[in-house]
Amino acid sequence: MRQVANPPNPYHKYSAEYVGEPPDAKLEVFEETATRSMIVKSWSPDLGRRFVVNCYRGCVHGCTYCFARQYHEMIGYGAGTDFETKLVAKINAPEVLRNELKKTRQKIPYLEFSFASDPYVPIEANYELTRRCLEVCRDFRIPVFILTKSPLVTRDLDILKDIECTVGFSIPFLSVETSRPFEPYVPTPEARFRAMEKVAAEGIEVALALAPVIPGYNDNEIPQILKKAKECGASRAFMSLVHFATDSIEEYFLKRLYEKLPTHADKIVNRIKEERNGRLQHRSMEERNKGRSERWKMINDVFELHMRKLGYEKYERLEKPKAEPVQFQQRLF
Ligand code: SF4
Repeated sequence: MRQVANPPNPYHKYSAEYVGEPPDAKLEVFEETATRSMIVKSWSPDLGRRFVVNCYRGCVHGCTYCFARQYHEMIGYGAGTDFETKLVAKINAPEVLRNELKKTRQKIPYLEFSFASDPYVPIEANYELTRRCLEVCRDFRIPVFILTKSPLVTRDLDILKDIECTVGFSIPFLSVETSRPFEPYVPTPEARFRAMEKVAAEGIEVALALAPVIPGYNDNEIPQILKKAKECGASRAFMSLVHFATDSIEEYFLKRLYEKLPTHADKIVNRIKEERNGRLQHRSMEERNKGRSERWKMINDVFELHMRKLGYEKYERLEKPKAEPVQFQQRLF
């Protein structure tokens, strides 16, 4: 059982400190009925224009590097264990999405499921909100990109087969041993590879998200992950450098890093700083996914070389970035 641990919330004037041991963090699910809109439109210089759907807030997978932790702070929770244990289910998501698409379908080229939570968090097995939203997408013939770490996506193959879609699996570590310190409650890499194989076997396009790369830790696994994913049917791949958008995310990442990997932590921190000009956080959205050192260039060259060797296509987003006004750190839920 985890104990409650949350960095101070920058949106709050006060933060809690416990006298003695903090209480255990208990799983709670809140059902949200006030949802008025399901499609979030955002734009950033590195990713371009996006249309994002999230049926949940918070994620029990608890990846210590997760950039979505900041969105939990915006609704009053903490970026630490609150993000992992206080989940919000938008229970009218499918109806809201359907009504929204009735009015906006012509302006929505595609939808992405992910980025503020995993669309297949375990409670999706009961709520079926992602599944029912995918049914709406099928009805409106709207292309879909899903990014997940969960084999639960294979439950929805019957719908996905009827949609123009790509299923991306985030697999940044090769083994459960390397994954666990950073992805404590995520299905094992092996389970994700098996799910990938199952999705690809249905003729659905599968992409590998080798993200995040944590320099000095998993960069040496890149060739093997690419190879294994290719054997499991992935045809496209992309990678990105670990990044911390806020002080809270950085603080929580470091706390868990020094707890789980005390003898490796300094090396990892120093290697990330090499890529960020002596800091841990990136200075701009343009540089958040990539490094700047000669070592990063070598990591990138290895990635590109193995992509070519294995016959991958580069992952192209459904819609290429367009020059639009920059709006940093938009809410993606
Ligand atoms: S699975 Fe995705 S959304 Fe969930 S904690 Fe991990 S990175 Fe964040």
